[in-house]
Amino acid sequence: MTRKLRAYCWICGKEVPLEHCKTDEHGHAVHDYCYSTRVKLEGESSRKHASRAERTQN
Ligand SMILES: [Zn+2]
Repeated sequence: MTRKLRAYCWICGKEVPLEHCKTDEHGHAVHDYCYSTRVKLEGESSRKHASRAERTQN
């Protein structure tokens, strides 16, 4: 049986081919490259928070 499940990446809104399908921390389908881009962006913003916290401690 070849039943295809269609998944749409919520980051870019395009259909996710199964070979690029990844699920984020909420279980939503995303492209692996969209997810890594998002993780990278989040890492940059949390790094800003971290440096801010360091400054406050000092
Ligand atoms: Zn995408």
